[in-house]
Amino acid sequence: MNTDCLFCKIIAGKLPSEQVYSDEKVVVFKDINPKAPIHLLIVPRTHIISLNELDDDDLTVHMMQLLPKLAKDQGLNGGFRTVINTGPAGGQIVFHFHIHLLGGGNLGGAGFAM
Ligand code: AMP
Ligand code: ZN
Repeated sequence: MNTDCLFCKIIAGKLPSEQVYSDEKVVVFKDINPKAPIHLLIVPRTHIISLNELDDDDLTVHMMQLLPKLAKDQGLNGGFRTVINTGPAGGQIVFHFHIHLLGGGNLGGAGFAM
């Protein structure tokens, strides 16, 4: 745990969140400022700064394979979008690695904006 990290505090239960799923590797909670009707954040329990620092194969596979299961649980049968912001120029504002899962509206094609 990084004591200065917002998501570490949420994972430790020191800050509130609307959690929808958790297991031994990840916690999933609702984004506080949703950009779509469903907007979840898939967050590893380990403090990893960004995709640049992700080197855990098991965790990577686990997170990727969890995404469609979460989407299905949320009723996103028509599809969903995943976003990973990496570094300041990539729009990352919370420096604890996370994957955005968005859906529930028509997100449009070739959409890179959130
Ligand atoms: P990123 O730009 O990828 O670092 O996105 C960070 C995301 O965290 C943003 O979409 C924020 O709305 C979200 N966020 C910030 N604080 C909280 C919080 N306390 N609980 C849930 N989501 C948050
Ligand atoms: Zn952290």
